[in-house]
This record gives sequence, C-alpha cells and structure tokens, in this order.
Amino acid sequence: MSETGTQTRAKRTARIGAGRLYQNRWMLAAAIVAVLVVHFLGSTSQWVTAAAVLALVLFALVAPRTPAAKRMADAAARVERSPLDRLSGEKLAAAVADPLIIFDRDGAVVHANAAAQRAFGAIRPEVPLLLMFRAPEMQALIEGALAGGNGPQGADYIERVPFERVYRVTAYAVERGTGLFVLAFRDQSEARRIDRMRADFIANASHELRTPLASIAGFVETLRGPARNDANARDQFLQIMQNQTGRMARLIDDLLSLSRLEMKPHVKPGGRVDLRQTVESVIASLAPLAADTGVVVDREFGEGSFEVEGDRDELFQVFQNLLENACKYGQSGGRVIVSMRHSMEGGEPEIEATVRDFGPGIPAEHIPRVTERFYRVDLETSRAQKGTGLGLSIVKHILSRHNGRLSIKSELGEGTAFSVHLPAR
Ligand code: ADP
Repeated sequence: MSETGTQTRAKRTARIGAGRLYQNRWMLAAAIVAVLVVHFLGSTSQWVTAAAVLALVLFALVAPRTPAAKRMADAAARVERSPLDRLSGEKLAAAVADPLIIFDRDGAVVHANAAAQRAFGAIRPEVPLLLMFRAPEMQALIEGALAGGNGPQGADYIERVPFERVYRVTAYAVERGTGLFVLAFRDQSEARRIDRMRADFIANASHELRTPLASIAGFVETLRGPARNDANARDQFLQIMQNQTGRMARLIDDLLSLSRLEMKPHVKPGGRVDLRQTVESVIASLAPLAADTGVVVDREFGEGSFEVEGDRDELFQVFQNLLENACKYGQSGGRVIVSMRHSMEGGEPEIEATVRDFGPGIPAEHIPRVTERFYRVDLETSRAQKGTGLGLSIVKHILSRHNGRLSIKSELGEGTAFSVHLPAR
C-alpha cells in the first residue's frame, strides 16, 4: 500500500508541477528570452546563463499562477470549453420534443420548453408547480423530488384538457449544487390507444369464435343425450353444427387475411392489374349469390383502360367483399350497379370504381365506423348473412396498401354506394 501510495503522490506532484509550468509558460518564456538576450550581449558567462535558466524553470514549477497567467489560462479555458459546456439549459430544453419543465428548490418554475407551453398552456416563470399540477400523483412526485428522493422518480399523469392525454412523468435533480430539478413528460397516449385496440380486438375475436363453439358444444351434448334416438332432430342439429363450423372457418380466414395484411403494411404491391377484368371475375364468381338473393348486377364501365398498380388477389378480395355486401344487405333493392370511371378528384389521375345498391342504406352515424373491425350496424342481420364484421376493415387495409381509399355515400331507404379510389397507372 505504501509503495502504491508513494507512486500516486509522485504522480500527483508531477501533474501539479506540469500544470503550473503550463500555466506560467508565457512568463517563463519571456524570462528565458531576457536571460539569453543578456547572455548574447556578452554581459554574463555561460554558467551564469545556464543557472539563471534553470532557476527560472524551477521557479515556474513551484510558483503560484501570476494574475496575468491566470487571466490567460481562463481565456484559453473559455476557448477550449466543449460546445456542450457552452449550451444553455434553455436551448437544450428547446431542442427536446417532449414537454420539459425546470424548477427550483422552492418548487417554482424556472423554465418551461415550447412543448410544455403547447401541452399545458402558457407557463410563466416562478409559478409554483404544485399549483399547476394538482393531481395527487403529481404532487407526490414533485414533493418527492424536492425532498431529495433517491434517483429519478416517475408517475403516470392524465391531462384531460383540451383532450385526454396520458403522460409518463419523471422528476429528477439536475445536479447537486445547482438547486434545479427537471420534470420530463413522455406522451403515452398513442401507445395506450394501440394497447387498448389490441386488447379489444383479442376480446372481440375470442367472443366471435366462442359463440359458434358454444353452440356446437350444446348440440353435441343434446345429440348424445335427449336427441340420441331422434333422427329428425339429428339431421337438423348436424346442419346447424355445419353452419357454425362454416362461420368459425370464415372468421379464421378473415382474421388470417387481416394479420397477413398487417404484417406487410409498408410493402407496396407491385403488379399490373386490369381492374375491369378483375371486377368481371368477381361478378362471375358471385353469380350464384346474386341469383340466391334475387339481385341483378349491372355494369356501367366508362371508356378506356382501367389499369392500376397492385396485387390482383387483394383487389379481387376488395370487390368481392363490396359486391357480397351489396347483394346481402341491399337485397331488397333487387339491383346492384358496378361502375368505373376515370377521375381527378384527389388532384391526381385516379380510377373510381363504385358498387351501388338500392337497399335500406346505412344511418349516417354508423358510416364512419363501418370499416372498424367487428363493427356491424345490425349484429343479427350480419350474423344471418354470414358476416364476420371484418370485411370492410380488410377492404380498408388493402386499399391503404395500394395508396387508395374508400368513400361511402348512403341515403336511408335509397341505398348505399361504396367507391374505391385507386391511383391510375
Ligand atoms: P360483415 O361481415 O358483417 O358484412 P363488413 O365489415 O363487411 O362486415 O360490414 C360491416 C357492416 O356494415 C355490416 O355488418 C353491415 O351492417 C354494414 N354494411 C356493409 N355493407 C352494407 C350495405 N351495402 N348496405 C347496408 N349496410 C352495409
């Protein structure tokens, strides 16, 4: 220990000496030049000059800094300070995108960055933070920081005005001695919304699958019990069970479609698709449904080619869902028109393909929500029509992958028109 201690002391002494030599370097240089000038003018001997230079160096090693050396050293330090040292707290706070409030040991605001001003209204300096944030969790957080709690502390805070936002807030002391503290807010609203949507989706999907499953389980039990020897009931129940398995299969197919689409939202489909041909194949494939529902499908296609960039199978699915809905829900109108035209509605050349029915229409308040997953205007009608509640949400996903969009117009008692807008090739 003593050897290491001696070494450490020697190193420290050498460092202090070097530091002083460096700080006094200009004075030392001037003195040495003076001694040399005197020597060369012939007034001192070689030995005297050497002794004088040595004495000057030794003096510079032990002498405290002269005021001039100190001034020069300070100036040099100012120049040599890193850009980070020269950055003011205000500028740093302004560069932070999240709301940030700096406060002092009395809990009064020293500075609030622009994001904080936007989020919580104008915040004047010196306002007591405890008056600004009255929620108990914020009071505890601020008081904890002022009381010198260990390390950063956090709390969840909900701001309800002008609209609801959820923040994760942390409070911490800037540095011992500054007497300043920072309150940093991170907006969690979007993450929370996505979490809630995911939880809702899982709950809805499980519920949709559980309903037919429960029905099948019920019929199996009846068939093994009271209806064991009833041939009529058996046929009837097996038919219902088959319908229910069909419903589960449709639901799983739609869920898989959605999940496939969600896995590649940014991969733009690149093929060349003739929309007229695609719609013709959809109409042909749905001829049995049209016949069953007593719906006549008419075409009103404009002149020219209707080519778009995209994935043929996905676009087929779009028109299949729309035409199927038109036949099922617009059945009472007895007629569906599929039209296609070129348009400049969005400012760029686009193709607008509309599936119009003459059924009961969709009440205005439901229109903005029909593309949500599992949203139905009337649950019973949708179930009766073998709907899953996912069709229009799949349509919306596919169109957004194709840089397109869906618009819906509906008049109660007159019918509904779903229009697909896609950039023309
Ligand atoms: P579903 O599988 O139930 O048909 P969709 O997502 O395709 O699900 O449609 C959502 C809801 O929108 C339907 O349940 C229905 O209530 C309504 N809807 C869709 N198309 C029409 C239409 N052409 N006319 C009236 N209502 C419609």
